[in-house]
Amino acid sequence: MSRLDTLAVHAGRRPDGDTGAILTPIHQVTTYAQDEIGGPPAPHTYSRASNPTVAALEERLAALEGGAGAVCFASGMAALDAVLRRLASGEHVVVGDTVYGGTVRLLREILSRHGVLFSFADASRPDAICAAITPQTRLVLVESPANPTLKLADISGIARVCREADVPLAVDNTFLTPHGQRALELGADLAIHSTTKHLEGHNATIGGAVVVRDAEDWLSWLRLARKSAGTNLAPFEAWLTLRGTKTLAVRLERHAQSALALACRLEATSGVARVLYPGLPSHPQHALAKRQQRHGGSVIAFELAGGKEAARRFVKALRLVTLAESLGAVESLVTHPATMTHAAYSPGERAALGVTDGLLRLSVGLEDVEDLWEDVRRGLVAARGVEACA
Ligand SMILES: *Cc1c(COP(=O)(O)O)cnc(C)c1O
Repeated sequence: MSRLDTLAVHAGRRPDGDTGAILTPIHQVTTYAQDEIGGPPAPHTYSRASNPTVAALEERLAALEGGAGAVCFASGMAALDAVLRRLASGEHVVVGDTVYGGTVRLLREILSRHGVLFSFADASRPDAICAAITPQTRLVLVESPANPTLKLADISGIARVCREADVPLAVDNTFLTPHGQRALELGADLAIHSTTKHLEGHNATIGGAVVVRDAEDWLSWLRLARKSAGTNLAPFEAWLTLRGTKTLAVRLERHAQSALALACRLEATSGVARVLYPGLPSHPQHALAKRQQRHGGSVIAFELAGGKEAARRFVKALRLVTLAESLGAVESLVTHPATMTHAAYSPGERAALGVTDGLLRLSVGLEDVEDLWEDVRRGLVAARGVEACA
């Protein structure tokens, strides 16, 4: 039972001992009976610390990533927070230059108040990560592909640098999941997930997880951080995520297939200035994508020649794809990074990251790809009026 598709269905599944029901029940409960005062430790004592439904999900996620263990959290941000809080005042983290906006906010607005030091480095170049490591560095954190320009981090190259410097490497593997990218096998010590995205996959929950390759001390730290801050995942959310993971492989195969088809067609369309998708040979890091990814994933970024007004018209004309934040679920969604996910950045910072006013991010869902293309074409036709006078 070692292959991913099988693990996705069976790992952590615990038929109910009392009834024989073949699925893990939703253990909707606060506390657990203890045998005697001073007895041996029970597997569960209080649901802030652990819960059997959540534990079943942790077992599955650890099996899918090929890690020693996993700890689930109330959100992807809570998972990232628990990892970063291991740093004490005066300690330093090197962060990939294009990471999720919430991660940047957490560092700038919260953790910096507690003395945690951070600096950004170009994650496409292991030597740039190496140069950013100081004697105070206790963690390197990268994301690949990164939001929203789909820039890749060279995970195994960075892992080598981290091993030499004796600094642990955390990879936010949300975009591709262990189906699309084997973060731990590529050398990461921690794989971080917003399970909100592909792992649950149905736009129905908020959740997060950290999968640990082998370090017991990280598992104990993450459990302590969760129990202390009360950032536990609720049992119903865990159950929905367990259900979502069962179809992870079939969903991701279709997501990636449709995304590649749409990316190819967008690239051949006038009025589209550039298309960014790791599965396209034109992606600046396509060779790296082929080395470290199984497929290009579900997210495409593309730039309309007519700038912000073209983007506005494009989105307004859509009937099937919804303008909304988030990605990686059955419903296709589009976002305008410059005014949504990356609005907190200065125009200069956005320009440096390639987040232009005409850039759109499309999360390709599981609708029929021809229906999606029809909708995208409707958007492109609406945007075209602008292009002529831009
Ligand atoms: C969504 C996301 C997060 C944050 O996860 P939440 O579940 O929304 O808290 C972190 N990293 C990446 C790459 C994401 O896409």
